Amino acid sequence: MSAKISEDELNSVLTATLPKQEKKDPKKRWIERMIRSAKLYHKICPYYDKKTTNCFIKQLHMYKRSRCDRDGRFEGCPVLVEFLERTYDKLKSEGTPLPMDFRDLPMVF
Ligand code: SF4
Repeated sequence: MSAKISEDELNSVLTATLPKQEKKDPKKRWIERMIRSAKLYHKICPYYDKKTTNCFIKQLHMYKRSRCDRDGRFEGCPVLVEFLERTYDKLKSEGTPLPMDFRDLPMVF
């Protein structure tokens, strides 16, 4: 006897067994959305200074080294993720609606 399961059934079983936090962490989902949106508009990081190869976020947050080590490749950049996390927390604490497009992201430094 063979038991077959459809792809939809398999997906529902797999998602049901994931921990709740992994399934729906709104902060993580919003950050991923912002990075996806940023990729639509920017080939290299919008906070990357091509002339000096410095990072504006690092400069404004007084990092010891303000140089971007990633040549402006922002996908998976921990500095950008940390910045977006801070922005998310700030907007949430103010009760400001979260932007759904990277271009609407306020400069919260
Ligand atoms: S360190 Fe990250 S956030 Fe800063 S310029 Fe480079 S890629 Fe962008």
